[in-house]
Amino acid sequence: MSDWERSSTARVTTPARARKLTKVPFVELADGRLQGVVSSGSDIGRVYVSSVAAGTYTFACSTNNNRPCGGARGSFCNHIRALINEAVLQYGAERVARYLRVETADGEPSAQTIANDMSDSRPQQGDTKDAAPVFSRFLRHLAYLELTPSTAPLPEMQWFPPTRAVA
Ligand SMILES: [Zn+2]
Repeated sequence: MSDWERSSTARVTTPARARKLTKVPFVELADGRLQGVVSSGSDIGRVYVSSVAAGTYTFACSTNNNRPCGGARGSFCNHIRALINEAVLQYGAERVARYLRVETADGEPSAQTIANDMSDSRPQQGDTKDAAPVFSRFLRHLAYLELTPSTAPLPEMQWFPPTRAVA
C-alpha cells in the first residue's frame, strides 16, 4: 500500500481500469448525477465542469468561469462524452449504467451504448448552477495531493462519511 492509502480512513475505490487523469481529472457519481471536470482539448488553462443527471439525463457543461460550453447546445458535447468514458473506466460500465438508470437493450453496456442511449432520448439541457460546487470539490481534492503523507488522522476528513453512497 502507498502512504496515502495507509493514511486514509475513506475506502479507496480501485479504478476498474487505469484512467488518464490529464483528460478528465475528476469524475464522480454523486448528487444524483455523473459529474466531473474535463480538460479543454485546446487551452491548457481551461477546464469544463460537465454533468448528466440520473434518470432524466439532463445535461450541463460550462467552463470553470461559468461560460457555457459551445458544444453542449441541444446534445451532449465531447466533454460529456469524455466524462462518460472516464466514468466507465473508473467505476465499470454496469455501475455507471445502473447509477444513471440507463437500460441497455442488448447485453453488456459500454461507454458508447450508455452515451448513445441517453442522447437518443433527447435529454434536456440543464442550467449550470451545480458546476461551482463540483469544481470546488475538485480543488479540494487537489489540495489533499499537496499534503505530506502521514498516518495521523486529518480532522477535517471526519466531516465526511466513511463511504460515499454510490449505486
Ligand atoms: Zn462541453
